[in-house]
Amino acid sequence: MDIKVIGAGLSGLSAAFTLAKSGFEVTVYELGRKPSSRIITGIQGFKNFGKRGKILWKIRKDLKLPISSKYFLPLKRGTLLSPSFRECEIYSREPIFYLVKRGFLSEDTIDMQLYFLARDAGAKFIFNKRMEEREGNIVASGPRKGVLWASVMHFENEEEGNEALLYYNNNYAEGGYIWVFRYQNLMDIGILTSKRDKFLPQKLRKLISRLKPLKERTGRAKLILHTHGIGFYDIPSSARRDGRCYVGEAAGFLNASKGEGMYYALASGCLAAKSIITGEDYDKLWKKEFKEELVEGFKKRTVWERMKNKDYEEMIGMLGSRISLEEYREKVRKWMKSKPAVLLYPFFLMKWKLLGKL
Ligand SMILES: Cc1cc2nc3c(=O)[nH]c(=O)nc-3n(C[C@H](O)[C@H](O)[C@H](O)COP(=O)(O)OP(=O)(O)OC[C@H]3O[C@@H](n4cnc5c(N)ncnc54)[C@H](O)[C@@H]3O)c2cc1C
Repeated sequence: MDIKVIGAGLSGLSAAFTLAKSGFEVTVYELGRKPSSRIITGIQGFKNFGKRGKILWKIRKDLKLPISSKYFLPLKRGTLLSPSFRECEIYSREPIFYLVKRGFLSEDTIDMQLYFLARDAGAKFIFNKRMEEREGNIVASGPRKGVLWASVMHFENEEEGNEALLYYNNNYAEGGYIWVFRYQNLMDIGILTSKRDKFLPQKLRKLISRLKPLKERTGRAKLILHTHGIGFYDIPSSARRDGRCYVGEAAGFLNASKGEGMYYALASGCLAAKSIITGEDYDKLWKKEFKEELVEGFKKRTVWERMKNKDYEEMIGMLGSRISLEEYREKVRKWMKSKPAVLLYPFFLMKWKLLGKL
């Protein structure tokens, strides 16, 4: 049987690799001319803490995706900035994040590495081909609509440095944040918001020329590309329809709190493939693996949606200027619990479903 996968993003690629490696005939149909056409370039982060455990182990051993660890850049510290630029550094002995390069502009991205693995395992790829969902066995076609919006400027720096910084300010990034990721000589500065804003790219450009922490980082940097994206999160009761498995953001597998989706894309792709190989129930597999994380993300989103700048000041203020990851997690957990909004999450989820947003 030839398994048809629609979309060659991380979710489709991990499904294709897992199936091809097990001897299945697989064809991946991709709308764009290259793998992961939606994410042209950029730097993204995998978190390396929490219930999920060590991400490299998860990807390489549990999911059995042998992407070399040299493509994962460990970061043992990260910075939070409050609206008034109050700074808090979070540190850890173990990496807090791993940054990875994304997209198809170079071969050292995880997308291209996964593509080479899938291709070498025997998966066939047909590019520039739009498919209907009903034509596929695995639907990996990315976000079906936007509930989060992002704009990112990709730079090349003269000097090398590695960094992760989040700046919260509701005046600029409502329900979201502004971020800086630096991976050696590459740097991304992006803005994420939960309010649709057609002027987001212009806003980001203006902020970069005005806000001190952004201005000082971009002074001698060369702009390579300015890209835009959407995110779609949901907690579906089932990620199967008419025998098809929906994976990655096509299923809504994105952490509603911060918009992270790479891990769920990789995991759901592998689990959908596993369900085809072993006959196990795909819904049971993904729910066991990460449903709890999705629910946690949604609870936090309920709080983020109600945050005002004074709340960000309070949150970052109570953390102090330097804090260990363990203390940070404990303090934020307690602080979130003190926000009554967190209890509203099931109503929030239901309301969004009823309004057709999910
Ligand atoms: C700006 C930005 C920053 C992000 N930062 C992070 C981060 O730091 N950490 C993190 O974990 N996650 C991050 N994410 C989220 C993460 O990138 C996604 O969740 C993940 O890449 C989703 O992978 P996917 O395979 O589900 O979908 P996609 O990557 O969207 O892949 C879907 C593919 O299907 C193709 N396609 C679509 N329709 C069709 C069709 N009809 N026929 C054939 N092909 C089709 C598309 O061209 C695309 O290549 C970020 C996302 C954005 C936009």
